[in-house]
Amino acid sequence: MLRSVEDISHLQGVRILLRAALNVPIEKGKVTDTLRLDLAMKTVSYLLARGARVILASHLSDKKASLQPVFAYLKNRIPLSFVSDVAGRAAHQAANELKDGTALLLENLRWNPGEEANDPEFARDLASLADLYVNDDFTVAHRSHAGVVSVPKIIPGYAGFQFLAEVKGLTPALTPESPSLAIVGGAKLVTKIALLKSLLAKYDHVFVGGALSNDFFLAKGYEIGKSLTSGAGDAKELLNNSKILLPEIVTVSNPAGRDDKNADAVGKEDVISDIALASIMALAPYVKKARTILWNGPMGHFETGFTEGTDELAKLVSQSSGMTVVGGGDTLASIQGLNLMDKFTFVSTAGGAMLDFLANGTLPGIEALESGS
Ligand code: ADP
Ligand code: MG
Repeated sequence: MLRSVEDISHLQGVRILLRAALNVPIEKGKVTDTLRLDLAMKTVSYLLARGARVILASHLSDKKASLQPVFAYLKNRIPLSFVSDVAGRAAHQAANELKDGTALLLENLRWNPGEEANDPEFARDLASLADLYVNDDFTVAHRSHAGVVSVPKIIPGYAGFQFLAEVKGLTPALTPESPSLAIVGGAKLVTKIALLKSLLAKYDHVFVGGALSNDFFLAKGYEIGKSLTSGAGDAKELLNNSKILLPEIVTVSNPAGRDDKNADAVGKEDVISDIALASIMALAPYVKKARTILWNGPMGHFETGFTEGTDELAKLVSQSSGMTVVGGGDTLASIQGLNLMDKFTFVSTAGGAMLDFLANGTLPGIEALESGS
């Protein structure tokens, strides 16, 4: 069982190392999307209100980038100081000076190579900043990094509110109620093959769209023209699985413009760029019947304007009366754009961590909290 922050009985004066999801887009020294920061405040506020001394730790995807712009945004919301250090002397001194009910933000964890290398010495330095550890960053829970898996082996670890919400929201998708439908889109079949296999074992039907379906067309021996594919290799072994549904009509772009074609009638100059409306109509009966729907990944190359398939699918799935779980960075953008965020049972803000959790039923960051000190 995951222990929650609410299980910590005494917080006054206790030093908490809080792994928070502060990995936000930054441009020209300013945070351009603050949604994640606002969501992170729930656990931070809970701890501060009870007199804890909160040491905020996060990574930025850009290893060299600074969390200074995040500090600039957060310091107007909570009593917060910043130290330009990760786990060295300056960080320890700043942590020692913390007063009850105030917070300190450490620099980008990935500044220190020990974070991604899961270096034991770095983990000890980080853990020695605090009495307890709280992980509220589900989006990094699939990584065996020091500040995810090793710190909670040294000091007791708990899950924060956002982390728990993801686990709670995604867990029902592991044991879908029949009739069940999984919809997987996006690109790079190699990164989603484990997920597909796991879904095929649990779901009644698995619809494969987006660039992923190109790999299946290729494996079937269809012409796919200049469409994006990662190769037929992985798709071949799944071809004969009767649970797999593929779009039968696709939208292609070619020198003459755009056109809807049968998937087995694509030409050499065509680029399969979306699933056609007709394919969504063909999927509709499955969506309407399903008690459980899981959806990850866009249906088309939206960067070049092929948003119709994803948008129409979002509308269709949002009308389901069954349980609906959706996620993936790019899928989320479509749902947000259509104002459908509250029309699903759960919308995950995690990317790779969501896929790994659905494929494996757990994550290194979850196991570390369950089996830790
Ligand atoms: P998510 O972030 O939702 O998990 P992925 O990252 O797996 O999704 O995939 C998103 C990418 O897949 C987008 O860049 C999108 O353009 C691409 N994609 C989807 N369908 C196609 C297609 N038919 N051709 C080329 N790219 C596609
Ligand atoms: Mg993506």
